[in-house]
Amino acid sequence: MSIDPAAELPFFYGSISRSEAEQHLKLAGMADGLFLLRQCLRSLGGYVLSIVSNLEFHHYSIEKQLNGTYCITGGKPHCGPAELCEFYSKDSDGLVCTLKKPCLRSPDTPIQPGVFDSLRENMLREYVKQTWNLEGEAMEQAIISQAPQLEKLIATTAHEKMPWYHGKVGRNEGERRLYSGAQPDGKFLVRDREESGTFALSMMYGKTVYHYQILQDKSGKYSMPEGTKFDTIWQLVEYLKMKPDGLMTVLGEACLNGRAVEKTPSLPATVSTGHILTFLSQQIFHCLRFILLSLFQRRTGANGYTPPPRAVPAASTPVAAVPAEREVLPMDCSGFNPYHNPNDVRRFNIQRSQLLMDEVELGSGNFGSVKKGVLKTDSGQIDVAIKVLKSENEKLVKEEMMREAEIMHQLSNPFIVRMLGLCNAENLMLVMEMASAGPLNKFLNSNKDTVTAENIVNLMHQVSMGMKYLEEKNFVHRDLAARNVLLVNQQFAKISDFGLSKALGEDDNYYKARTAGKWPLKWYAPECIIFHKFSSKSDVWSFGITMWEAFSYGGKPYKKMKGPEVIRFIESGSRMDCPAACPERMYELMKECWTYKHEERPDFKKVEESMRFYHYSLSNKVKPEGAAADAEPDK
Ligand code: AMP
Repeated sequence: MSIDPAAELPFFYGSISRSEAEQHLKLAGMADGLFLLRQCLRSLGGYVLSIVSNLEFHHYSIEKQLNGTYCITGGKPHCGPAELCEFYSKDSDGLVCTLKKPCLRSPDTPIQPGVFDSLRENMLREYVKQTWNLEGEAMEQAIISQAPQLEKLIATTAHEKMPWYHGKVGRNEGERRLYSGAQPDGKFLVRDREESGTFALSMMYGKTVYHYQILQDKSGKYSMPEGTKFDTIWQLVEYLKMKPDGLMTVLGEACLNGRAVEKTPSLPATVSTGHILTFLSQQIFHCLRFILLSLFQRRTGANGYTPPPRAVPAASTPVAAVPAEREVLPMDCSGFNPYHNPNDVRRFNIQRSQLLMDEVELGSGNFGSVKKGVLKTDSGQIDVAIKVLKSENEKLVKEEMMREAEIMHQLSNPFIVRMLGLCNAENLMLVMEMASAGPLNKFLNSNKDTVTAENIVNLMHQVSMGMKYLEEKNFVHRDLAARNVLLVNQQFAKISDFGLSKALGEDDNYYKARTAGKWPLKWYAPECIIFHKFSSKSDVWSFGITMWEAFSYGGKPYKKMKGPEVIRFIESGSRMDCPAACPERMYELMKECWTYKHEERPDFKKVEESMRFYHYSLSNKVKPEGAAADAEPDK
């Protein structure tokens, strides 16, 4: 699911310990400069480079920085682990020696997945399924879109339902729990320290309970006093099971919290290592299920395991309370679950009595206005946007709106505004799901300070997924622009305005317009303007312009140029410059979208893939740390 950027490297071993790494290097002959790469156990997304020099081992941790680059502490940043290793194969730049010979994995040594790696996919699936009540293709798309954010969220809160985590429990109560039952050395629990908002570790040693404060530095990393720093509490606990790091002894048996005691089946009397591993992974999975469900419950306010209602009262606030330290995710939007099963509320003919219309106008167009409203369904009420045709508008505009409705009716994708139905009453009304944060260009323009480039990458990746879906269904949009990308919230985009869209015939790969209309020329590919030919490839060109608008925070493409000037500009081979805040990789992709010949232009399958790889490469980043240790601890 989540692609490890090192997965392709033949000298990457995954989650192995320091001693295992040394064992591999020994077996490979201990030549000077022999090296391998492994997963870092303490920082999410980081690695460790293990090198031999003068028959000694050296281990360097590689951290993933806030901007998505990788570097050895104090060293130069590199865009990926492969690039980093290539660099150090030419220049030692502070390492004990250059990397001379990769210690290759043998065919019978697979990449070792970390505890979290092997559970991540199931956790994500369970989360998306439960939270958004999705199945099938819509679920796959939601997972693809949200995996990086969810992985971070799940990883950093994963301790909450571990069997050793006791929540807000005072020192005395912690002691009482540890003293009850057997009292082996190393028996431990982790608890929230009352009032201070920090964590404490309480541990049994020599029949006495010792309490340690778990420190958290400014960048959010956890450690024991003077000890190694970790991104998450559970990584710290895993590490302390192997190394005391200043404690009286290593952590041993978990003092089980109430939930775990209830749920934990006892181990069989005779068990093999395999049994234990299976048992442990079942337990971990069990805990992670708890985490997912509790995250879900926290978000929905549900008490049990019942799935969330598919439609919720329209009166609820659009964005639920979100901890300040993380970005808003689609599921924080409590007013309307945008990943709902559309078939629940989708009814082509909506009765007027089911609709409540607000005076609030969301926007307007040729046809009339778009108003805020509420649709009453069997399972509750949902916020909707209602496109109202002006009554004085003539037949032609009505036909236009009907055509738009017909197109929208055939589309069902999380990244495309859904039409819920038509209501023919005092006016013809097209009822759509609500994207309350409005058009992308306006949103970015008024939120320059709070929207990061990574946030924009996420949104544009979602747009590329919606467009890939249209391409697969053989629809051309013909009006893709930032003004037609609507936001449900800061992290969730949907393509809208299908007024110019066309469904292509099965054997056609373009639509030929007989006459030119009121066209958005600055968004159009050369073949649209010159030959009136529209295809998914011409939508790709528009996607490039939309990207430019997004990374310019709602800037106007081609400044003050008029249509004919733009055509001359393009024909001369010129293209718009890279917006100031735009990552180089994204500008490269924009320029690919602006390939003059449509045959040579990438399709959305390719564009989505490029967006996804880049989006994922930015994920799992670690927070920058003031003083990172330069050597990784023993396992
Ligand atoms: P359109 O003619 O479809 O581009 O709609 C005109 C304006 O109405 C848009 O720019 C939005 O501001 C608003 N609007 C349209 N559809 C929606 C929707 N589903 N949710 C929220 N606002 C919308």
